[in-house]
Amino acid sequence: MSREAVLEAVCGGEAECREELMNAPREVESFLGSFSTFTPVVRELKAPLVEQVENLSSAELMAGDRELARLAVARRLAELYGEKFRDWAGDFCPICGRTPVLFLVKREQGPFFETAAKLAKCVCGFSWRYAWWRCPNCGAEGRENFDVLVKEGLDGVFFYRCRKCGYVHVEASGEPDEVAQYGLRILARYVAGR
Ligand SMILES: [Zn+2]
Ligand SMILES: [Zn+2]
Repeated sequence: MSREAVLEAVCGGEAECREELMNAPREVESFLGSFSTFTPVVRELKAPLVEQVENLSSAELMAGDRELARLAVARRLAELYGEKFRDWAGDFCPICGRTPVLFLVKREQGPFFETAAKLAKCVCGFSWRYAWWRCPNCGAEGRENFDVLVKEGLDGVFFYRCRKCGYVHVEASGEPDEVAQYGLRILARYVAGR
């Protein structure tokens, strides 16, 4: 599944929409770049880690926006402390506390056969191995709890709508780039009707 396929699915032929989508990750990146030297002071290595940051208010002052500040700090935390949570198996991100929307399926060649792992991919940059057929919002498990939707043109992309709580998550194979990842999260929200 290519970036172009995602652009087409989100925007169709609308040039303005495409440009916005193409630029969004870069704009966020350049904004977050100013935080590359910010050092979060962490009280305790407890998830979600962003709640443990003592100097969050100075980040908010720097960013001028609470949500952006938290995202910027979470990105730093993911870089600095991601390794500490490598065995994480929770439903929410241990760094920023978000419920994951995007999941990437990675295929690995083992000694005898190919295996696949499902990774939750958070906007803060942290990712962790996740169970198949599980809703990250309510914990419902088993394929009978999901409606699976596909969108024409998006090969290897599946949208899962939980029958218990309505939460939608999206699963994609391969290595979608930042723009495609951003677009897939937007599509998941469309599918959820939000
Ligand atoms: Zn996160
Ligand atoms: Zn659910």
